[in-house]
Amino acid sequence: MATPEKKEEPKKVTPLLELPKCSKATPSPNPDEYGDMITIVVGSAENVRKFYTYQGLLAHYSTYFKAALKDDWKEGTLKTVNLKDDNPEVFKAFFHWIYTGKLYFALDASGKIPLSEQLICEIYVFGDARGSTNLYNAAIDLLLQKTHQEWKVPLDQIPYVYENTLPGSALRKYLVDDVVETYRFRRLADPTQRETELPRYPQEFLAEIVVAFMALGSKPIPSSAGYGNMPIGQDNWAKYIKPLLCSRYHNHPAPPA
Ligand SMILES: [Zn+2]
Repeated sequence: MATPEKKEEPKKVTPLLELPKCSKATPSPNPDEYGDMITIVVGSAENVRKFYTYQGLLAHYSTYFKAALKDDWKEGTLKTVNLKDDNPEVFKAFFHWIYTGKLYFALDASGKIPLSEQLICEIYVFGDARGSTNLYNAAIDLLLQKTHQEWKVPLDQIPYVYENTLPGSALRKYLVDDVVETYRFRRLADPTQRETELPRYPQEFLAEIVVAFMALGSKPIPSSAGYGNMPIGQDNWAKYIKPLLCSRYHNHPAPPA
């Protein structure tokens, strides 16, 4: 007879941090302008998924699709776009977002954000590459909510982000700020762990950290040193960062002429 599994105490999940709606976000398009259906084939080999959506929706939210689906381009004539180097999970999030304004359908059964930090960073990079400012703003918002919910700096994503974004990008800025505000580099401070820890950080990232700390001078850490302790640190950081989100990390596209 099978031994009954030990029942684990469910961990308390931090409720999703509510964020103000970006007042400068692009409004939804008029359904009259949705136009033709488009097939988007995303991924390659065993990891391919097809999505079907409207040309007008894609064009409304992405300058890349707007250009690619012009009638005189092959994609525009065939009504098909192939994105073989993209991750279908990333496109799925984009697909959800153009219809619902959210990058996922629902929180998981325990109330957690169902997307990983890595996937959220990939969504940001996709938004950047495909000319969708509103999408990468949404990715920043979700990463902030994820950081808050997990109360964990997305350290493992730093190399990916520095390889796939340009200097000055909002995602780099967010990671640098998050680390300065909430992380203490304990493993770097420990000489026995430094050698294994150091390769996790791109040089450019470390330079930005140094500059950010120098800019603080003798001022205290802006989120009143929220690191480590839960839930006080978590709450302090949330209160500090929420009102800054739109002005610090969003880009706002010019309204269409
Ligand atoms: Zn905004």
